[in-house]
Amino acid sequence: MADDRKKLSMTLGESLRQQGVSRRGFLKYCAATASMMALPPTMVPAIAQALEKAKRPSVIWLSFQECTGCTESLTRSHSPSVENLIFDHISLDYHHTLQVASGDAAEAAREAAMHENEGKYIVVVDGSIPLANPGYSSIAGISNLQMLEETVAGAAAVVAVGSCAAFGGLPHANPNPTGAVSVGEIVKDKPVVNVSGCPPIPTVITGVLAHFLTFGSLPELDALGRPMVFFGQSIHDRCYRRPFYDKGLFAETFDDEGARKGWCLFRLGCKGPMTYNACATAKWNQGTSWPVESGHGCLGCSEPDFWDAGGFYNALSIPDSDLTRKTGYVVGAGVALGAAAGALNRSTRAKAAAKHETVTIDDLDKKS
Ligand code: SF4
Ligand code: SF4
Repeated sequence: MADDRKKLSMTLGESLRQQGVSRRGFLKYCAATASMMALPPTMVPAIAQALEKAKRPSVIWLSFQECTGCTESLTRSHSPSVENLIFDHISLDYHHTLQVASGDAAEAAREAAMHENEGKYIVVVDGSIPLANPGYSSIAGISNLQMLEETVAGAAAVVAVGSCAAFGGLPHANPNPTGAVSVGEIVKDKPVVNVSGCPPIPTVITGVLAHFLTFGSLPELDALGRPMVFFGQSIHDRCYRRPFYDKGLFAETFDDEGARKGWCLFRLGCKGPMTYNACATAKWNQGTSWPVESGHGCLGCSEPDFWDAGGFYNALSIPDSDLTRKTGYVVGAGVALGAAAGALNRSTRAKAAAKHETVTIDDLDKKS
């Protein structure tokens, strides 16, 4: 315990030197961190200076209504590796799935981390919070709502990891039997960053934590509370199939000639035009590939209400919560859709929104 306290009081620079990490190796890590956070190489000395002085922040990870996919995603992160992240750069003091302690000892670890790091620790949450009945999801006899409120009270910041924590996700899907809500609907008096995705990209989770560690603050956020550096552009904006979309060349089935030639998957249900995430650039599995590259359309997993967006294989099925913004995007892509720009009439949108129907390419092609 005394050793643990000593480790926590050391700066990161001291800790790395103690572990025999060379100055060169440290700067290499800083360069990798800058690149992950999409910062220019000129920022590397500033990052090195900040990290040199940084103390390992305490992290309390709370898992509520979720499938553990977000933790699975993080434990497959590679840059920096999760071992690096957990053991060298943060102090992961509570995590149901990864911790050895259980029962009273586990809860005691959470309470100790809260008291010893008052005002400084980070709370990571995956999963949504059921409000319909506290008994729907509880840990150690404590409801998710109570655990969230008491843990967040002394936190510096909250990271809502995954679409369930960020937007309610699958538990929130119609008819939302548990009354699931997002973290942001409960926590109003602390900075909250949404790292959405089902699951989120591991480098995005670690990138947000690295940003906090480096600058002592959360990165710039978009209108949905997501870090701009990773969610600032749509999947469609960065998709390598985009030239085919712009030329109006679409695969009609998963095994036709268009699919074999790598044409755009829009008509097979790709939600890339209305989905903001870094998959096309960060990729998955250590940068190996991503869904659209492997031949499947984007499901829109990082957007609110994506489970209620109609069929995954229907072109442009849209959650009614955001119909205007998303159809507006398609109207803007008039070149690709031929006559679509002038065709999407108000009544089509209004009717679809009212009935929560899919808006298809054919609908877009109809004249007003
Ligand atoms: S619709 Fe999908 S496959 Fe086509 S260019 Fe956009 S993101 Fe890529
Ligand atoms: S490609 Fe789309 S559905 Fe797939 S992980 Fe990325 S954002 Fe989610």
